[in-house]
Amino acid sequence: MSIEIIEKKCVGCGLCLKSCPYEAIELKDKIAVINDNCTLCGACVESCKFEAILLRVHHDKTNDLSGYRGVWIFAEQKKGIIQSVTHELLGEGRKLADNLDTELCAVLIGEGIQDRTQELIQRGADKVYLVEAAGLKDYLAEPYTEVMTDLMNEYKPEIVLCGASSTGRSLIPRVAIRLKTGLTADCTGLEIDQERRLLLQTRPAFGGNIMATIICPDNRPQMATVRHKVMKEAQIDTSRTGEVIRKEPVGDAVKSRTKLLDIVEDLSQKINIAEADIIVSGGRGIGKADNFKIVEDLAQVLGAAVGASRGAVDSDWIPYSHQVGQTGKTVCPKIYIACGISGQIQHLVGMQSADIIIAINKDPEAPIFTVATYGIVGDLNEVLPALTSKFKQVLGK
Ligand code: FAD
Repeated sequence: MSIEIIEKKCVGCGLCLKSCPYEAIELKDKIAVINDNCTLCGACVESCKFEAILLRVHHDKTNDLSGYRGVWIFAEQKKGIIQSVTHELLGEGRKLADNLDTELCAVLIGEGIQDRTQELIQRGADKVYLVEAAGLKDYLAEPYTEVMTDLMNEYKPEIVLCGASSTGRSLIPRVAIRLKTGLTADCTGLEIDQERRLLLQTRPAFGGNIMATIICPDNRPQMATVRHKVMKEAQIDTSRTGEVIRKEPVGDAVKSRTKLLDIVEDLSQKINIAEADIIVSGGRGIGKADNFKIVEDLAQVLGAAVGASRGAVDSDWIPYSHQVGQTGKTVCPKIYIACGISGQIQHLVGMQSADIIIAINKDPEAPIFTVATYGIVGDLNEVLPALTSKFKQVLGK
C-alpha cells in the first residue's frame, strides 16, 4: 500500500491533520505533507472532502495460488497435554474446511506425544502431521519455526490457524515472515468468501472501537492467530477416523541457539483465569495491595479465579498474569464479577463475552454498568465482605 497527497486538489483545510491518530500529517505552504509516522490506516482519506488523498493498494497478481489447499491448525501442547485453544481451533477449522470443501489437518510437534493424535482426529482433524524429536519436547522458537515452515512449504495449505497464546504469538509471525505471507493477529471471527476462497479475518482495531475484517488476497497461506475462549471447542466424536503422517525434522531443523532452562509455574495464580468458569476481578478501586484479600476471599468461596484490571496490575498490587483485557488475557467465564473497575474499553474487550457480568462500583455512572447484567452501586469494602459471608452461608462453606 502507499499513500499520496494530490497537491492540485489539496486546499490546506487541515481536516486530515485532525483525523490522523498518529500525528503523521503536517501543513507545509498550505499543502498537507505525510511524514514517517504514517501507518497507512486510511483515516485521513475518509476525512478529506476534496478527494486529495489517495491510498493505493498494490495487488501482486503474479503469485500462483491454485496449488494451495487444506486448512491447517497448529496443535499446541504443553508437557504432552493438548491445550484447550487447540480444541477451539479444531472446531473453527472444521467449519472453514467444510465451507471450502477441503481437509482439516493438525500439526503436532513434540516428543513422545503420538497417543495425542487420536484426540485431534476425534475432535475434527482429517490428518495429523506428527513431528517428534528430543529437541522438540518443549516449545522453542527456532526449531518449531523450522519444522512448521518446512511442512508448509512441502504441503502448501491455503489457511493456517494458531492460538493467540504466548506460544502462538511467538511462533506464527516467524513462520509468516519465512513464507512471505500475511498474518492477522488475535482474530475474534473467521468466515469464508467461497467464491474467492478467501479467509475473512475479523479482529478488534483501534482499542476495540471498531471491528476490522482483513483479507490476504495475493499470498498463501492465509494465516491468523485466534483469541482463546472466543470460538467454541470441537466436541469429541469417537467414531471419527483419520490419517497420521509421521514426518522427520529436515536437516538442522531441531538446532536452536536458545535453550529452555526451566519452566516456572506462577504460584500466585491458583486457578488459570483463561480457563475459569467464575472470575472475581479487582481494579484500582480496591485501593491498596492488601485489600486484594477481600477479592480473594470472595473468589475462594465461589471456587473462582482472581482477575485484575491493568490499573491494579500497574499499581503493583497483583502480577500481570492476572490482567484481563486488550494487553492481558481474554476471558469468557460463566460469571465475571468486576470490583472497583471503571470499565474502560481496553478492559471490556477482554471480558465482555462473559455470560453474566456483575459490577460493583461506587460510581453509578461508571461505564462498566453499560455491559453489566447486574450492578451493585456501593463501596466494595462493604459489598464484598457481605457477599462473601452470604455465599459462605448459602453454599454451606
Ligand atoms: P480506574 O479507571 O481508575 O477505575 C477505578 C474504579 O473504581 C472507578 O470506576 C471508581 O468509581 C471505582 N471505585 C473506587 N473506589 C471504590 C470503592 N471503594 N468501591 C467501589 N468502587 C470504587 N486496562 C485493562 O484493564 N486491561 C488491559 O489489558 C488494558 N490494556 C490497555 C492497552 C492500552 C494500549 C491502553 C492505552 C490502556 C489499556 N488499559 C487496560 C488501561 C485502561 O484504559 C484503564 O486505564 C484501566 O482499565 C483502568 O483500570 P481500573 O478500572 O481498575 O481503574
